Amino acid sequence: MEDIVPALKVEDLRKTYSNGLLALDGVSLEIQAGRFFGLLGPNGAGKTTLINSVVSLARPDSGRVEVFGRDAHREFREARRMIGVSPQELNLDKFLTVEEVLLYHAGYYGVEKRKAKERAEELLERFGLVGKRKDRVNTLSGGMKRRIMFARALMHDPEVLFLDEPTAGVDIELRYSLWEYIRELNRGGLTILLTTHYLEEAEELCEEIALIDDGRIAAQDTSAGLKARYDARSVEEVYLKVMGHVADQ
Ligand code: ADP
Repeated sequence: MEDIVPALKVEDLRKTYSNGLLALDGVSLEIQAGRFFGLLGPNGAGKTTLINSVVSLARPDSGRVEVFGRDAHREFREARRMIGVSPQELNLDKFLTVEEVLLYHAGYYGVEKRKAKERAEELLERFGLVGKRKDRVNTLSGGMKRRIMFARALMHDPEVLFLDEPTAGVDIELRYSLWEYIRELNRGGLTILLTTHYLEEAEELCEEIALIDDGRIAAQDTSAGLKARYDARSVEEVYLKVMGHVADQ
């Protein structure tokens, strides 16, 4: 089993922002294909910086990233194509219609037109967006925008999905339906990296968890392994023991 290529391999990643802030202080982690992996940590821990470094939105000082064995820097296009990202910040072009958001994204990733149409239909249907397809993004609610971001991340049929705080600011009902959908995607073989500071979300969804604090991985194991190691009944208890302070929910 040793030589199976991991979906994501991060080695000793360091990132200093131009103001001198060290956001990642030698982060290493490996995510096996098909896993549902949670990256947990307080605000400011470095979760978004890690995701951004993997997809080249942030330039790390040093370290290596591989996506299914492809170097994320030297083989940027191949590596990037395998990743879908739903970022924390809503970053939709508000003048586009829902359908245009999806089709433009597919165009950017070189998905053939007919295939893109099919895929857009599937995803519009899946996310309950069919009736909104011609609506401009800026006329829609926050929850709708969140769904569009999910659909957009999936348009080029990625192998790994990064979900950065996907349910922040989302109402309970949508949160549960998003959970259900993410779980289904994972059961279908998609590798998922979820960042969250909602511990019950991690408890519910993640089979493996890395805790990050102050730009360093503080612990990493399967959810069950962490609970056993820290003699804890829940992910929340693990989190509190590892971080040594009250979680900022
Ligand atoms: P998280 O996603 O865990 O909340 P981030 O990766 O967003 O954490 O931030 C990690 C640290 O880097 C924080 O201290 C944050 O203030 C800082 N940071 C993030 N982006 C920038 C930036 N563009 N310039 C300077 N500092 C930044």
